Amino acid sequence: MYGTIMHAPGDVRYEELAMPTIQQPTDAIIKLSATCICGSDLWPYRGANAITAPMAMGHEYCGIVVEVGSDVKTVKPGQFVVGSFVLSDNTCPHCAHGFQSSCEQREFMTGAQAEYARIPLADGTLVSTDSQPDEDLIPSLLAVSDVLGTGWYAADAARVQAGMSVVVVGDGAVGLMGVLAAKQMGAERIIAMSRHKSRQDLALEYGATDIVAERGEEGIAKIKAMTNRIGADAVLECVGTQESMTQALQVARPGSMVGFVGVPHGVQFDGQKLFFTQVGMLGGPAPVRRFLPHLMDLVLSRKINPGKVFDQQIPLADVAEGYRAMDERRAIKTLLRV
Ligand SMILES: [Zn+2]
Repeated sequence: MYGTIMHAPGDVRYEELAMPTIQQPTDAIIKLSATCICGSDLWPYRGANAITAPMAMGHEYCGIVVEVGSDVKTVKPGQFVVGSFVLSDNTCPHCAHGFQSSCEQREFMTGAQAEYARIPLADGTLVSTDSQPDEDLIPSLLAVSDVLGTGWYAADAARVQAGMSVVVVGDGAVGLMGVLAAKQMGAERIIAMSRHKSRQDLALEYGATDIVAERGEEGIAKIKAMTNRIGADAVLECVGTQESMTQALQVARPGSMVGFVGVPHGVQFDGQKLFFTQVGMLGGPAPVRRFLPHLMDLVLSRKINPGKVFDQQIPLADVAEGYRAMDERRAIKTLLRV
């Protein structure tokens, strides 16, 4: 079978690999229906994360189960499944609290940009559908695996509730999914910070009520003016840079929460400043497993269409072009057809 290996920054290859096999009785093997490239895959691609050995890329996936280990009980061959990018047992205390992304047995999925993939902890990680989903729903079901689950977590962590004013910092795929999530949770005003026309358009389609293109002090002033000078009731930080985090904290009103899901790179906090800001923060890798059943239902009943976030769809064999397109911001998010 074929899959994707990153050998060095900028060097992604589609190459022949060994077929994955059951290694633990809790494993499953799936045949991918589709997979995609994540914004976080660009960190090593751009040299921001070290690559010490060839990396099997890909952690967003959905597909058909082809084989299960002897201990797997909840999924069986032939079923269509979606899983989280974090592998979890879904039984430990952290999982019971809904933080499967801090599972005592946590592992991070790898190797999903391939024709087949091994899914450890299958019972605790995968959720099956009752029947084979319609082909046109595959992109949206794939989105649930990480990008929608992460945007949803940003809104959940920011405690978005009906009637609130919400600011979404970041117009990447996760930020756009944050807009969708805030809309579903009943936010009244959703201000998307975006400078790119195509992303602004998609944000508006997903439920943004306002677009703020300005950044820095200008952006903060504009949002303050839009929120009676007090700031927003909830803020979603979906980038992970010092600039975006500062932006998020300064547009959040005292007493509000910032949900931060952009993996921080070089972000630092001034403790005393944070103290006087009186803003709460919750972030981290999204516990997608908690949201999977609900989000899959929303997709299967066609209430949401997160798959529109994939503005490039190419064959898996052309994965290197997908990385280039996302790196050069020609694509918001690239779906790889398997
Ligand atoms: Zn667990």
